[in-house]
Amino acid sequence: MLQETLKSNSICNSELHNEHLCYIKSQGFHLTNEQEYNTLVEDVRYMCNHCSRTARSADNLCVPVLL
Ligand SMILES: [Zn+2]
Ligand SMILES: [Zn+2]
Repeated sequence: MLQETLKSNSICNSELHNEHLCYIKSQGFHLTNEQEYNTLVEDVRYMCNHCSRTARSADNLCVPVLL
């Protein structure tokens, strides 16, 4: 588990990676803060070109592409 986190951190250069869905998901945030997580992923407009996750805001993705 820990090693996987380090790996995904090294792929993303952003200082804000802890706000990215890739990181959020890897930390289980979507399970512990389900409501807050749901607001990030409703009415999605962007997709991450790196991990294929979708989000409403480009700020929550490593490599956001407009859907
Ligand atoms: Zn990603
Ligand atoms: Zn990231």
